[in-house]
Amino acid sequence: MRSKRDTCDKCKATDIKQKHLHKVNGSWLCKKCYREHRINHRQETIEKTGIKDELRLLKNKEKREYEKERRSKLKKFKPKKFIQKENPLPKIKGSKRNQKFENNNLFLTLEEKRNLFRILKRRGIDEDEVKERIKNLTESLQNLRKKLRENKISKEELSKKKMEMLEELWNH
Ligand SMILES: [Zn+2]
Repeated sequence: MRSKRDTCDKCKATDIKQKHLHKVNGSWLCKKCYREHRINHRQETIEKTGIKDELRLLKNKEKREYEKERRSKLKKFKPKKFIQKENPLPKIKGSKRNQKFENNNLFLTLEEKRNLFRILKRRGIDEDEVKERIKNLTESLQNLRKKLRENKISKEELSKKKMEMLEELWNH
């Protein structure tokens, strides 16, 4: 058992003065090895933090894009939610077409028209007025379909227009 430490654990050099030995992670390094270790360590740190920075930037970018997408989705769905809450369209059991209409289809089936007719009349609207409103809605939908085909209308405008049309339909 040596009473005096004088050996470098890395390059095994001996007779090193105590003050020139540096303790690193449990081993003792001579001056030369210690300097090498520090240079490597610094390089490693730079590399690691460099990667970290990149990862952080990427994460932030992803977050921003996710948030952007989430917001635009919210924006798109808002008018629809509003329609469903304020002016629920009549539900026809088992009718896939009706679901489609709610999900952006711009077409009213005969069944849907009949259903609307019944509901509007039940709300105390005059029969002729009900017919007129359904006729107007059908025409507006036709018009929207045309605009959509010709790419003259954006998704947002489309939702807004549909909402306006439905408000008109249910107004007293
Ligand atoms: Zn050494």
